[in-house]
Amino acid sequence: MQDKVRVAVDGPGGAGKSTAAKIIAKKLGVDYVDTGAMYRAVAYKMKENNIAVSDESLLIKMLSETDIDFSEGDVVLDGRIVSEHIRTPEMSKLASDCSALFAVREKLVALQREMGRKKSIVMDGRDIGTNVLPDAEFKFFLTAKADERARRRHRELAEKGIETPFEEVLKEMVERDANDATRKLNPLKKADDAIEVDTTDMTIEEVSEYLISVIKGGGDGNGKTI
Ligand code: C5P
Repeated sequence: MQDKVRVAVDGPGGAGKSTAAKIIAKKLGVDYVDTGAMYRAVAYKMKENNIAVSDESLLIKMLSETDIDFSEGDVVLDGRIVSEHIRTPEMSKLASDCSALFAVREKLVALQREMGRKKSIVMDGRDIGTNVLPDAEFKFFLTAKADERARRRHRELAEKGIETPFEEVLKEMVERDANDATRKLNPLKKADDAIEVDTTDMTIEEVSEYLISVIKGGGDGNGKTI
């Protein structure tokens, strides 16, 4: 493997990005950055401070006083661990809404680029391969059928004690995908040189093993779809 390896894992919600990214970061012995958690942390702070998506000046002031970092897998917002609070359906929607704003993306993309500047890293999100780390050594774009993605999200929420009807999870997921894929700034999009992996019928072990095999093998053809 090369000295510095940056791995970009993009795709819509429920495609298995964060679970696979976490596993491969551990196997490679490098840091993992969940960029979605950063948008969620901004959304959480906006809610706490009663700042609407349309309150541009308040939002810019808030962002200038915002620090987001990771510690042992937890998201740290201004020194407080907020991991428990940011995974609700409400925060999913608000994260997607605030992620379309220039001020939010400018701040978070700068932080993410800095994290990937000096060291090996696995980063997952929507625009890592296209925008945050366009020269990443490996780029993957994970997809799965909407039904299956919603089933996974529904199970995750249930495990956290959040009971939401399946139809609602599916509807919110489709709306969020559309929001993320059609926004003007850094939309959800496969990078031309990313390897697309449809995870619908794959277990998470199969997905992570495939990603690792590509990385350890040094890449087996950019843009390949399996
Ligand atoms: O991945 P996760 O579902 O936690 O992301 C929450 C939201 O954050 C996404 O729906 C998307 O709007 C936004 N996001 C983004 N760019 C990223 C990561 C997440 O716009 N790199």
